[in-house]
Amino acid sequence: MTDCIFCKIIAGDIPSSKVYEDDKIYAFKDIHPKAKVHLLVVPRKHIETLAHAKADDAELLSHMILSLPKIAREQGLESGFRTVLNTGAGGGQEVFHMHFHILGGGAMPFTV
Ligand code: IMP
Repeated sequence: MTDCIFCKIIAGDIPSSKVYEDDKIYAFKDIHPKAKVHLLVVPRKHIETLAHAKADDAELLSHMILSLPKIAREQGLESGFRTVLNTGAGGGQEVFHMHFHILGGGAMPFTV
């Protein structure tokens, strides 16, 4: 999608601090970190929100989730991390290209 900031980051049209990529996903540092380590993990495919994902996306979503611990570990989050997935405006989503947040590296700023 041409006006999507995360699509532009994946394409390399907007700079990012990349920490991981493969043929399905791209991970980079959040520009306004809410924790010592704050990463975003996005699918290369433009999926607006989790609520827009289809049955065909099951393998991609599974790959994303199973990649999170490896990506977190590689950024030093050996003892664990928090995963956040905001869905829709009512869920606090601001960038409408679905993404997991990985947060960690100190006291968590909030609990759920
Ligand atoms: P959301 O509220 O779950 O949609 O999270 C969007 C996140 O994207 C926020 O934490 C922003 O700080 C982050 N963000 C927005 N633009 C950029 C960027 O250009 N690079 C890295 N992170 C970004």
